[in-house]
Amino acid sequence: MPNKPSSVEFADTISDLMNGIAGWLLIGLGTAAFLSGLGGLIQYAGTADMVIPILVLLFSFVFITSGMLVNPRFRRRLDRRHEVSRFGRVQSVDSRVLSESENRVESCTSCDAKMREGLVRRYREEYTAAGIPIWTLSENHNFYCSSCATEELPGLTLTDRDDDSTTEQVVTEVE
Ligand SMILES: [Zn+2]
Repeated sequence: MPNKPSSVEFADTISDLMNGIAGWLLIGLGTAAFLSGLGGLIQYAGTADMVIPILVLLFSFVFITSGMLVNPRFRRRLDRRHEVSRFGRVQSVDSRVLSESENRVESCTSCDAKMREGLVRRYREEYTAAGIPIWTLSENHNFYCSSCATEELPGLTLTDRDDDSTTEQVVTEVE
């Protein structure tokens, strides 16, 4: 599969940015609706009019949730969420292909050779709540040249050029 032309990458960046802005607008709108709904609820508590602030509160939740879903940063976090039962520190490893088009020169962790393409393994320790990564505690990258990568990970094929797909496995969980 050929690498994405830069105009597509540019369009992706723009659409990420637009989604980000739309996301934050929705979250802002939702928060404003939440506050006015809360104020209304306090004001009209116990009266028949309290239905309106309750509806406003429901809408605010819809706004905030869709704002988070449309935001690429939140979405990426949701994409790499762990099991819902996970709370606290979670260590995970994922790997992806480093392609020559990224214009990076790294040295192989195994044989110390300079490399422009190969495999990147990312070791990450995150603080999670209900499986969603909230805070990254530490992140390390290991680079492997093509020949070391096939030795280290026999099941891996470097012909797979889909850079967006990362395979993730949770290694251990530290409470
Ligand atoms: Zn190597």
